[in-house]
Amino acid sequence: MMCGASRARRYPTSRRVVTKTDYRLPCTWGQDTGWKGAMKPVLGIETSCDETAAAVVDGEGRILAEAVLSQLAEHAPFGGVVPEIAARTHLRYLSDQVRQTMTKAGVTFQDLGGVAATSGPGLIGGLIVGCQFGKGVAIANNLPFVAVNHLEAHALTARLPGLTPGGAPFPYLLFLLSGGHSQCIAVTGVGKHERLGGTVDDAAGEAFDKVAKLLALDWPGGPALEKLAKEGDPSRHPFPRPMLRRPGCDLSFSGLKTAVAQTVLRIGPELTREQRADIAASFQRAVVEVLADRAAHAMDMMRDRFPEANLLVVAGGVASNASVRAGLTAAAESRGFRMVAPPVRLCSDNAVMVAWAGVERLRRGWNDSLDTGARPRWPLEALDALPE
Ligand code: ADP
Ligand code: MG
Repeated sequence: MMCGASRARRYPTSRRVVTKTDYRLPCTWGQDTGWKGAMKPVLGIETSCDETAAAVVDGEGRILAEAVLSQLAEHAPFGGVVPEIAARTHLRYLSDQVRQTMTKAGVTFQDLGGVAATSGPGLIGGLIVGCQFGKGVAIANNLPFVAVNHLEAHALTARLPGLTPGGAPFPYLLFLLSGGHSQCIAVTGVGKHERLGGTVDDAAGEAFDKVAKLLALDWPGGPALEKLAKEGDPSRHPFPRPMLRRPGCDLSFSGLKTAVAQTVLRIGPELTREQRADIAASFQRAVVEVLADRAAHAMDMMRDRFPEANLLVVAGGVASNASVRAGLTAAAESRGFRMVAPPVRLCSDNAVMVAWAGVERLRRGWNDSLDTGARPRWPLEALDALPE
């Protein structure tokens, strides 16, 4: 993150010859930018994968408007996200998404306190579209820009005051379960994270998607598998529980996935719906047991480091699975923690979390230089910590 010793500067007008340096907005790390107290609404933009999303959230965390355009139809024929198609689709729809969201929120760009766009990690084409669009709005309207880390946006969602009374206080344990990430993280502040463990192979959502494919379910597999599992017998197949009761809180799903693949092969090419439902239910039960065990270990590790911690925050698309939520709620209760999961629509990718991450940073007086680039890889540990 670029944090030059820049001072407030007038932004270029259309009549000036603009150089890269002219575009560099002040990065006010740790300075009082006047945002504390009554903060203006922030526009959030999310384009890191296959959702084109925009939202406006005010300084108190109230969601003024939100919109998510899923690109499912564009990618479904290919059975997964095609990066080039994703980038072009963001390009095609983003400006309309933003315009409509602003209208719904009843605000103009001049009413905003800043623009926040996901700048990584994710698919580079989409990140460039959202990040550059956000910077364009910031330049044109003389607004501060925040380059949001997608993982941190998931991590901070629980602090939306509407989700938990007053917003989740630091420190808390984040169990991030998405299509691309599965991690246990101690969140101790904005920009402050300690990784306690994570997957050594597939992410949880990836495992759901791959097993769904083996069962010939439509993409994306997670929700389809959950639906099918409702009809099946979860004790029919004794699938392995990788990492169960191992020290630490690392996860692994490749062995479980292989066991499912072998079962599918053994039963034969023509699986009945009942057979597929039994496999789905047995797989889901194995995942839930593993996740509950890993979360319990992570909570123990969290307590060792931060004795006052008592909140388990679950985020990412897999957190919308009802069995996963139930398993993690029980695990939290067994450790004297409270489980907090955002509503289903805020579990998977959305722009509310991006706008809110922007609010969290701006009200601490931190915005980013306009030469901050999109980053396909951007681990949470690489984020700069904010001075409290
Ligand atoms: P990413 O940004 O990495 O794509 P998301 O947070 O958007 O992740 O979540 C998408 C992932 O969540 C996909 O792998 C999808 O299959 C999984 N998922 C979504 N809903 C469910 C569900 N009900 N049960 C299990 N997995 C789910
Ligand atoms: Mg996604």
